[in-house]
Amino acid sequence: MAKVFPQEMGILKHPNRKLRLVCSPVKAIDARARKEAQQMLEALRSIDTSFTLVNGLASNQVGLGSRIVVMKLGFRFITMINPVIAASAVPCFSIEVCASLPGVVRLKRRKFFVKVDYLDLDGEKKAISLLWLASFTMQQEIDHLDGKLIID
Ligand SMILES: [Zn+2]
Repeated sequence: MAKVFPQEMGILKHPNRKLRLVCSPVKAIDARARKEAQQMLEALRSIDTSFTLVNGLASNQVGLGSRIVVMKLGFRFITMINPVIAASAVPCFSIEVCASLPGVVRLKRRKFFVKVDYLDLDGEKKAISLLWLASFTMQQEIDHLDGKLIID
């Protein structure tokens, strides 16, 4: 089968055991953390298409072990250090795919709204409210940081 994304950069596929790693909080936003975030952004851009509205990657999907998520939200790419779901509302179902599980589609129980607290690359505390696809993607990324996949 031809690869959908021929330039795809280093995204691990199930059953790579690093995908089961529970990632550790980032203690200091130093050169290493910034380098890891940069590597993740490059990996996310490598699977980006102009029709992708929302996408995300968690650090263990590229073999790293600290709690960093990168997301594409519309035209923005954002980096979240130590993201935590601070609030969520409205249980619903989501049909999901994952870059680490090519060809797999799963129906997941999610929340329609989430509020996420995180640090940006300058160490500033941030909060973002997400809904629908962005909320579902965020929940999948947080699951990744805890070693969980959509097949679980
Ligand atoms: Zn995923």
